[in-house]
Amino acid sequence: PGITDVRIAMTAERSAAPVIVAVGSGKGGVGKSTLAVNLAVALKRLGKRVGMVDADIYGPSLPRLLASEGQRPEAEGKRLIPVPNAQGIPMLSMGHLAKPGQAIAWRGPMAGNALGQLIDADWRGTELLIVDLPPGTGDVQLTMIQRYKPAGAVIVSTPQDLALIDAARAISFFDQAKVPVIGMVENMAGYVCPHCGEVSDPFGSGGAEAEAAAMGLAFLGRVPLDIALRRASDEGQPPAAGDDPVGAPFRAIAERVAH
Ligand code: ADP
Repeated sequence: PGITDVRIAMTAERSAAPVIVAVGSGKGGVGKSTLAVNLAVALKRLGKRVGMVDADIYGPSLPRLLASEGQRPEAEGKRLIPVPNAQGIPMLSMGHLAKPGQAIAWRGPMAGNALGQLIDADWRGTELLIVDLPPGTGDVQLTMIQRYKPAGAVIVSTPQDLALIDAARAISFFDQAKVPVIGMVENMAGYVCPHCGEVSDPFGSGGAEAEAAAMGLAFLGRVPLDIALRRASDEGQPPAAGDDPVGAPFRAIAERVAH
C-alpha cells in the first residue's frame, strides 16, 4: 500500500472511538470501582477488547486495583497513550498523572478537562471502554456523559435503603441525559462468615433487585460481601480474571452486560 493508504487507514483506526460503558453509583464506597474492574476483566475473558478509564478523578483507585501504580502514561502529540497492566487492559487514571498520595482538588471545569484527556486518549485497538465514574450525580459526571455519550450505564448499589435512594437518583440522572441504563448490580449482599459459614445480611438483601423491578430495569446480579474479594482487590488481582469462584458473580454479570 502507498503511504497515503497507510495514512488513511491510520486515521480511520484513530477515529474509531471505543464504545463507552459507564459504571456509576449514587454514593461512594458501594463497590463501584471493584465492580468496574471485575466487569472489565470478565468482559475481556469473553473475548472483548476492553480498556478502562478511571473517571473518579478525586479518588482514583484503578491503579491499585489493576496493579499499575507508579506508571506514567506516555503521550503522542497531545494524546495520552494508555498504560498497560498484567490483566491486558489498557487504562488511564488521574492516579497515573498525579503524584502518589497527592490530593487532587480541582474545580468542575478543570476536572472535566482532565477527564477529557483520559477519554480522548489513543484507544486504538480497544472496542469497549469501561469508565469508572465518580460517585454521585454532579457536574463532572454530567459533562462526561453529555460530551462522550456512553452507550449504556451500569448502576451499583448496596441493598441498604439509603444507598438505594441515591441509586434511584443516579438512574434518573442517566435517564435525563438519555443514556440507557443497562441494569443494576447489588453489591455487599449477604456475608458468609469465614468461621461458621453462616450467611447474614449486614445491609439487608434483595433491595436493589426489588428497586430494579420497580423501575423496570434489568437486575444484573448480586455480589456477596466477601473478605477474599477485598483482599484480592487490594493486591491488584481482580478475581473475575481467572476461574476463582470469588469472581463468579462478576463473570455472570459480564455475560448479561455482553448480551
Ligand atoms: P467505590 O468505588 O464505590 O467507592 P470500592 O470499589 O472502592 O467502592 O470499594 C470500597 C471498599 O470496599 C474497597 O476496599 C473494596 O475492596 C471493598 N469492597 C467492595 N465490594 C466488596 C465486597 N463485595 N466484599 C468485600 N469488600 C468489598
